[in-house]
Amino acid sequence: MERDGNGWVECDLGHRHWGLHGAAGLLIHTVDADGTLRVLLQHRADWCHHGGTWGLPGGARDSHESVEEAALREAVEETALDGTKVRLRHTFVDDHGGWSYTTVYGDALTALPTVPNEESAALEWVATDRVNNLPLHPGFGHTWAQVQLVPITVVVDAANVLGATPNGWWKGRAGATEQLGQQLAELHARTLHTPTPDDSAVTGVVTEVHVVVEGAARSAQLPGVLHEVRAPESGDDALVASSGELSKRGRLVVVTSDRELRDRVTAATEGGAAVRGARWLLDVLDQAPHSAPETGLC
Ligand SMILES: [Zn+2]
Repeated sequence: MERDGNGWVECDLGHRHWGLHGAAGLLIHTVDADGTLRVLLQHRADWCHHGGTWGLPGGARDSHESVEEAALREAVEETALDGTKVRLRHTFVDDHGGWSYTTVYGDALTALPTVPNEESAALEWVATDRVNNLPLHPGFGHTWAQVQLVPITVVVDAANVLGATPNGWWKGRAGATEQLGQQLAELHARTLHTPTPDDSAVTGVVTEVHVVVEGAARSAQLPGVLHEVRAPESGDDALVASSGELSKRGRLVVVTSDRELRDRVTAATEGGAAVRGARWLLDVLDQAPHSAPETGLC
């Protein structure tokens, strides 16, 4: 039934919450050309519960809706953003017993235009490193501590990945590299469960993709969103040097299946990079966005 989720409920922890069937919010992000990661936040109108604070667009789930549907519907109502331009990826559930709040991660390729409705004093794409400077809605403040997005840089050994791809070379080196480049562009601004050097995982967003190309592949035309590393001599040396530099700036995933090279990358980054094989990357590229209901970190 339309809006059958509207109402107050007391959770097992003794709080009072809005949403008889729980609530959901959309954590939608984008990445600027310079790599700045931004999330769309709503400055709540003064008359709202916790007015004047900043939080995610979202609200009560109706009984017939998935959490993804609820988050997207509420966000579209409150921001007028084009929901067809949002790719839903993961969810994070904060379960209080008798009531839960689900954060739905959404990727947007650009800072989509928004129009505030009467519940919003303002809507803003806020740089993630500024979020904690704002007066946050208490619920969002609690959630943000758990879901805050980590910027991730991915470095790809293009020749090695193509070598692991069935029929990877059928268009010749430059053509095959261009085809891989089209796929790698899809990684940009994407939510990713990211491996870490110690094999735990964080949820982050890919803010930069660096592609190392060598030999005949250097003539390939790659999408502008990718950072090209054209190796004048050895692609391996270029991959090691780039990884060493990039590991100083933040979280890094390096993709190559070459065992010897993996050891060199680990040494050059002083263990600061997660090194994964081509199979890991191909699996990530195969994962389509979804809107199916699910629970927990998927
Ligand atoms: Zn509660």
